[in-house]
Amino acid sequence: MIPVSTFSGKTVAVFGLARSGLAAVKALRAGGARAVCWDDKPAAREQALALGGEVMALSDMSWDGIDALVLSPGIPLTHPAPHPAVLAAQAAGVEVIGDTELFFRELAQFGPGRPKVVAVTGTNGKSTTTALIGHLLSRAGYDVDVGGNIGRPVLDLPALQAGRVYVLELSSFQLDLTPSCAPAVAVLLNITPDHLDRHGSMDRYAAAKASIFKNQGRSDLAVIGVDDPYCADLCTRTLSRAVQHVCPVSSGKVLGRGVYAIEGRLFDGEGTATREICDLRQAPNLPGAHNWQNAAAAYSAVTPFLREPREAAQGLLTFPGLAHRMEQVGRIGRVMVVNDSKATNADAAAKALGCYQDIYWIAGGKAKDGGAQGLEAFAKHIAKAYLIGDAASLFARQLSAHMQTSIESTLEAAMRAAVNDALASQASAPVVLLSPACASFDQFRDFEHRGDEFKRLFTLLAEDIRLKGAA
Ligand code: ADP
Repeated sequence: MIPVSTFSGKTVAVFGLARSGLAAVKALRAGGARAVCWDDKPAAREQALALGGEVMALSDMSWDGIDALVLSPGIPLTHPAPHPAVLAAQAAGVEVIGDTELFFRELAQFGPGRPKVVAVTGTNGKSTTTALIGHLLSRAGYDVDVGGNIGRPVLDLPALQAGRVYVLELSSFQLDLTPSCAPAVAVLLNITPDHLDRHGSMDRYAAAKASIFKNQGRSDLAVIGVDDPYCADLCTRTLSRAVQHVCPVSSGKVLGRGVYAIEGRLFDGEGTATREICDLRQAPNLPGAHNWQNAAAAYSAVTPFLREPREAAQGLLTFPGLAHRMEQVGRIGRVMVVNDSKATNADAAAKALGCYQDIYWIAGGKAKDGGAQGLEAFAKHIAKAYLIGDAASLFARQLSAHMQTSIESTLEAAMRAAVNDALASQASAPVVLLSPACASFDQFRDFEHRGDEFKRLFTLLAEDIRLKGAA
């Protein structure tokens, strides 16, 4: 845990007591602050009490004597409307910040040997890139901790220590609540429309993402993906401000200066001569052009830490990958089974569908706006779609003119049908792919629960088929 000393002897309101809120309560208490807490869930309030917080409904709170409001990133700061607690705090002149702001203020107080922070944001690929950077740095012998929007809340990470490196995934909501964000290396992967209900407009969403660079100084590095118009424009503007070093990154475009991947071959054009670093097609857990963008960004982000940047090549090839993101679960005969439960919208599913041929595709759940629209373009890759959940009939209407579809009652039924059809097919390397293009909440707790269930069913089915084969 990272004790928060910057509010020692003061009182901080903590609103929203999920994992990051509870970590903030613990860290504030350890640093000698009072933490006045609230969450609508009674169980969360109990946990805050056990950590030394005081529980008080925000409506009963007098804001006199409160020094800051630490808001959970899940609670609206501006859109669709500021939460009443935000309005009340602002009216009383109380600053509204997040747990990551507490982290950066603590960091700013650290003396010589201050730990370095690598921060990662973007619409898609944040978790993969964050984990990949952690993997590359720990292979290079660094004492590295990974957290933020992935894994552990930032204040739950081991205490600040000279030489330590923190790799943090930051969402746009967290960035909005972190005015002192000042990472040594900041990575912005891409910006495409998302979360607009919470940011109000595309420009405001892009501004939240861009704020990851705003406090960087001369010795810092900004890594910017330039494959979408928002990021390309931001890269030009950041370069022309000429403050920090800027490394443009692309998957698909040759850059005059920067790091880029062309058909999987990773090139470093930052030095005087362009060097080929490695062939990412040999990296089993970074498939597809979108992952090559993540790999190029991760490579650029770690170069300041390495004596010889080529040291990163082996680490890229051995990255174990993250669960639920195009995760190769195993094989049944010649059928490869892939869990991409994290693909909770059509855009993310499109990335997986573009990576394989002869796909027996399991999709559906709770549909997002537009449903499966656009995914008919991948019909050539798909042998058949097995549709589940609330979205099944909508997806069948959208897709059945373009590919074979069937509606299945459960994930298990879909998986059995998909594996049996794939085994009976003529294809030499068929793929059973769970890439739902939907949220999971109609049938599962979350995307992790859906993916874990898929993997459990795989183990059972593989055993079933093995026993039948032996009989
Ligand atoms: P995030 O943490 O930003 O949600 P993840 O690394 O968890 O990103 O990946 C989520 C999904 O987004 C993956 O299943 C993949 O389909 C897609 N994805 C990953 N990286 C990228 C990228 N660079 N560009 C576009 N889509 C991506």
